[in-house]
Amino acid sequence: MPSEPAVTIPAPDADLCLAFANTRYWRGSSAPTEELLTPDDLLRWVGTAARLPTALTGRFEGSDHLLADGLALREAIYRCFATTAHGGEPAVADLDALNAALTEGPERRRVHRGGWEAWPSETTAAALLAPMLWSAADLLAGGQLARVRQCANPQCGWLFLDSSKGGNRRWCSMSACGNRAKAHRHYLRQKEK
Ligand SMILES: [Zn+2]
Repeated sequence: MPSEPAVTIPAPDADLCLAFANTRYWRGSSAPTEELLTPDDLLRWVGTAARLPTALTGRFEGSDHLLADGLALREAIYRCFATTAHGGEPAVADLDALNAALTEGPERRRVHRGGWEAWPSETTAAALLAPMLWSAADLLAGGQLARVRQCANPQCGWLFLDSSKGGNRRWCSMSACGNRAKAHRHYLRQKEK
């Protein structure tokens, strides 16, 4: 039995891994926006988005390579789903990175209402990012993969899970990218006249 006490890690939302990938956005522009600039940014984001208790995230403070390794995993997750969203197969290297991190991170030992009991004994990025990795694995292996889309605004690059009834959502949000695209089409039509 591992020495650290068990903690309950809330079961991740299906699209948590996509939210994680979207912490870098405007990926198609010349100056993408990066939300996670420091290890603290990463710990705070995980605490909020994955609802990890501070008693757990606190164990990772000062851990070496946390940000660099965490961002490398995020990029592997991003590439996997940006590829499948366009009908492709994830690169072997990205799948290998995901599988290695899943093996290194805590196991989902016991389920109970609202979460998984786990014994994270390491303070590596793979351990911290367990909920995002579980979400990525479940999404990649499950029936919702065909619903993963990338925003039709090529500058935006947001990934999202299309839960619309018709399965034909194209934009990360109508207010952010959809209206901009509509306005741009309108502008082009006016120019053609
Ligand atoms: Zn967008």
